Amino acid sequence: VRVEDKLFQNRYLVDAGRPHITVTPHTVPSPRLLALTHVCPAGCYTQADSGQVEISTDGCVECGTCRVVAEPYGEITWNYPRGGFGVLFKFG
Ligand code: SF4
Repeated sequence: VRVEDKLFQNRYLVDAGRPHITVTPHTVPSPRLLALTHVCPAGCYTQADSGQVEISTDGCVECGTCRVVAEPYGEITWNYPRGGFGVLFKFG
């Protein structure tokens, strides 16, 4: 089974207007932010036409990779979603 097929079995409840991760505004993205567009397993980070790195938290599996890579440097904020929101894992 492909990882993508397994991820597809998870469900995600969007907390509208309250994303649990935000990218700090920037004009030129740092190498760290650019790396997130490659390392996020859920593909949440993209580089917009403006050059800025943006996040769509839909589908975030809370793996913590971006938190380790960028949060200590103030480039993103990261909090767990409110109870009941976010990823709902299907095991097995
Ligand atoms: Fe992507 Fe993991 Fe960060 Fe969620 S916690 S946005 S899945 S890298």
